[in-house]
Amino acid sequence: MEVTPGSSDDGKQLSSLLSQTQANGISVTEIIGDTAYSGKDNLAEMKKETIQPVVPLNPIVHHGGERQEGFEYNKDADFMVCPAGQHSTRKAMQGSKQSGKSRSLVFYFDVEKCKACPLSEGCYKRGSKSKTYSVRIIAEHFKEQIEFELSDTFKERIKRRPIIEHKNAEMKRFHGMATAKYRGLFRMRIQAYLTAFVVNVKRMVKLVEHKQPALE
Ligand code: SF4
Repeated sequence: MEVTPGSSDDGKQLSSLLSQTQANGISVTEIIGDTAYSGKDNLAEMKKETIQPVVPLNPIVHHGGERQEGFEYNKDADFMVCPAGQHSTRKAMQGSKQSGKSRSLVFYFDVEKCKACPLSEGCYKRGSKSKTYSVRIIAEHFKEQIEFELSDTFKERIKRRPIIEHKNAEMKRFHGMATAKYRGLFRMRIQAYLTAFVVNVKRMVKLVEHKQPALE
């Protein structure tokens, strides 16, 4: 488990989650996750570790070019967050539909906020009528994963992904995780770790009971 601010990119947690899992003695041969984990670096890391990535590709996550420092994509809300914490207000696809190579997804920011922004140097050009942030979409970097996504194996394995959502729902509905009980990451970590501990213990008890039914 990793606890991060709501605006951070889930995909960046993959390395740390993988290390935690391996440090706990679990050999990882497959990772099933949502689109947030389908970034180029994550796919490369899984390949290096001979782990099968069962993660659907997302055109925004599997971008080609380098991202400008400090801009983060929030996949749940589908907007870009700039270094000053401003959310993009809209997005548009640019480029030819026929050529995946030249297409870009462009996110637009509110220039009124940029005009008053202390971080505008090198980001917003004074007098400009718009401030945009573009993500290039380069399909060939993901050829192997695009092919795997079409396979029967992928379609079968990805069906297991909702299992974790049931666990998340259990934590939210029955153990208070729908609401942040405290402010600050440190305190939120305590709430999250203890909640995870509780649902894990419940699961362990269930497994033990299943293996060793209580004597009548
Ligand atoms: S200039 Fe605009 S886009 Fe750039 S950091 Fe400031 S608010 Fe964000």
